[in-house]
Amino acid sequence: MASPKSSVTVNGTTYRWPLRPVVVVCIDGGDPAYLRRFLDDGALPQIARFIAHGFGTVADGSMPSFTCPNNMSIITGTPTSKHGISGNFYLDTATWQPVVMTGPELLRGDTILKKFADAGAKVISITAKDKLRKQLGKGLHVRQGHVSFSSEYASRCTLADNGIENVLEFVGMAQPDMYSMELSLFVLEAGVKLLAQRRPDLLYLSLTDWVQHKYAPDESEALRFYKALDDAFGRLAALDVTVALTADHGMSDKSNAAGEPNVIWLQDILDARFGAGTTTVICPITDAFVGHHGALGGFVRVWSKGAVSARDIIAHIASVDGIEMALDRESACRLFDMPADREGDVAVVARQDVCIGSSRAAHDLSGLKGHRLRTHGGVSETKVPFILSRPLSDRYKLKAAGQTLKSYQIFDFAINGTQ
Ligand SMILES: [Zn+2]
Repeated sequence: MASPKSSVTVNGTTYRWPLRPVVVVCIDGGDPAYLRRFLDDGALPQIARFIAHGFGTVADGSMPSFTCPNNMSIITGTPTSKHGISGNFYLDTATWQPVVMTGPELLRGDTILKKFADAGAKVISITAKDKLRKQLGKGLHVRQGHVSFSSEYASRCTLADNGIENVLEFVGMAQPDMYSMELSLFVLEAGVKLLAQRRPDLLYLSLTDWVQHKYAPDESEALRFYKALDDAFGRLAALDVTVALTADHGMSDKSNAAGEPNVIWLQDILDARFGAGTTTVICPITDAFVGHHGALGGFVRVWSKGAVSARDIIAHIASVDGIEMALDRESACRLFDMPADREGDVAVVARQDVCIGSSRAAHDLSGLKGHRLRTHGGVSETKVPFILSRPLSDRYKLKAAGQTLKSYQIFDFAINGTQ
């Protein structure tokens, strides 16, 4: 480790210099239901040990319960309203085009990794999905010894862009498929090896939720994945570090008894009532990995071109079966701590067993291939694990006792709160 320095302040939170390396893992789609079941079965001895000797609870993630917003919350220590990444897409009302929100220029404020790197710490960020890489690595100078790469593009890493090369040989695994549990396991294996070899002060490992989208907690493939995670977490913890586990969001089954997705085709409903072209529904879950979920999630945004008011939209859709909430911009941003300048005129949240799409013709569900639709985005998927491998200090025990923790406090607890 670098020689101990003074504290580092990031977005209003002050972090002491880490006593030992801190490894934060975001188990993408890591709904607490998986851990509950597998811990009950005694299948996860390492995580069980963390909870027994360290700390474990269920925390609240940020809304909407999608991957990009929550990774940015974790890595900045702030809610969506502060860092600005409130989905994978928002609508630019100047051009009326959806804008992908993975660009680092859209991320407001600094990441914890960047500020520690500036202060002389060695930091490493590894993500499964390349779409997260640039924001997670925002402001990191990989030429100064820091590392930032994705397992999705592991075979393409260069010293100039990622701070590491020959990653497949280094990790000893083949390039993983985009739709595989190995895409996540590669991240962890790379983390174990880099931790042993370079001993970074901060290591952030972000997985992918392919397994959780596809398999419920009672399916054997989910158990196989979690056993592999547990084994890797144990090997990380054995390197004298603090391991912190959380998730970006949970995961809910959103299919009916026949196995068909329970979908509200919101654009079709709005077009039928107000006319085509008067409103635009944006599904902020949309990304390159649509085989996961057919771009169907539990949260969408509606923008009006002006002829119809938010109040009219809400009045028309609030009573649609399966819609849990339809809120105007101000109410949604106040309730869910989201940035108003990237919010739609209406924010729509689905009930736990239902998802919302735009128009039926716009979604390709062929990637589901007979699997029940499991997805996320709503309030019902905001519960996430919050687990530390080391015991809390008395001060942080008190802090944890007085509130439901937020997942974006994980770096605070891991760096400042452990003994
Ligand atoms: Zn995710």
